[in-house]
Amino acid sequence: LDIALQSLCPVLPAPKFSPLEPLAAAGHRMVLAANGLFVEIERPWMHAVLKVGEVGVPVPYGEMSEAVDLRFSDEQFRGMAGEFLAVARQAHPVEHAAWCEFRGSGLAYREVEVLASSSASIQYARPEPVTGGSLAIDLHSHGSFPAFWSATDDADDVMDDVKLGVVFGNLDRDRVSVASRLSAFGQFRDLTEWAVGVLAGTAVEAG
Ligand SMILES: [Zn+2]
Repeated sequence: LDIALQSLCPVLPAPKFSPLEPLAAAGHRMVLAANGLFVEIERPWMHAVLKVGEVGVPVPYGEMSEAVDLRFSDEQFRGMAGEFLAVARQAHPVEHAAWCEFRGSGLAYREVEVLASSSASIQYARPEPVTGGSLAIDLHSHGSFPAFWSATDDADDVMDDVKLGVVFGNLDRDRVSVASRLSAFGQFRDLTEWAVGVLAGTAVEAG
């Protein structure tokens, strides 16, 4: 059993003189480096290296740096955001939600089954990915409120494993606000600046 557990989430030392072998399949591993403990995550739609802890003793290994590489194009992200905003504006003032799934060729929009929604909250059933697909982006709207991460969003996202979260707010205005973050095993990395940059020119601003 220990061998099975350890192969699901191995720990390895960061090499100092050679590159780190890439993760062969979707999954994650811990990498102990001279500058801290990192988690490295591989999904079909992204690769990330996140620092998750300091190590208070000298470690004779290589160093790692944080990185988040998304494997879908800006164009695809703009398309998904546009599709979501069109539906979310119709649902306004009630909140709306959807997922984007990554399939070999890129992002596919997935409507979700909304279980309950109001102008301040939404509950929905997470879609099952199609065979070979991977749920990547969790989108929701905040009605007339600005885009930000509520305590409810935080609680939901901590429970999820790895996803890109995107929230749109101020849907009563021509210019909506947006916030985005990678959430991975309870770690958050803000990607709002990235989202605003990609959506620049589409009437979206930072939340
Ligand atoms: Zn929210």
